[in-house]
Amino acid sequence: MDIFSKIAAGEIPSYKCAENEEFYAFLDINPLVKGHTLVIPRREVDYIFDMEDDEIARYQVFAKKVAKAIKTAFPCVKVAQVVLGLEVPHAHIHLIPMQSEADVDFKREKLSIPAEDMKAIADKIYAEFVK
Ligand code: AMP
Repeated sequence: MDIFSKIAAGEIPSYKCAENEEFYAFLDINPLVKGHTLVIPRREVDYIFDMEDDEIARYQVFAKKVAKAIKTAFPCVKVAQVVLGLEVPHAHIHLIPMQSEADVDFKREKLSIPAEDMKAIADKIYAEFVK
């Protein structure tokens, strides 16, 4: 099982932001900004564009709901959606609350946020998601 499948299964800890039976969202452990979230399918699939049409449609609708929760929890200009997937071979959408384009520069130094703050950030997003 790849690392994100283990996270979705609860075998590796993560800061949960949202979930349903098919998809799971959690904080990026090396965030660009506070609230940087990853959205994954629970099933093991590497390349997002290998997903079937109906699955990717449900995935995008789920990500949209997570993005709305992020924007309410952490007001921003827009929530950016980015797909890279060069590091972890399990499909994931980055959702990044953005004040400016600099917030989505993946080359910039990542934040190091204490565990208790990460938990509080994830809980705030989760609370908006389930509203
Ligand atoms: P990429 O595959 O290039 O989209 O990057 C993978 C992303 O996953 C990076 O932003 C990492 O910080 C993040 N990441 C890797 N391992 C974990 C983990 N165990 N928990 C949360 N985020 C992770």
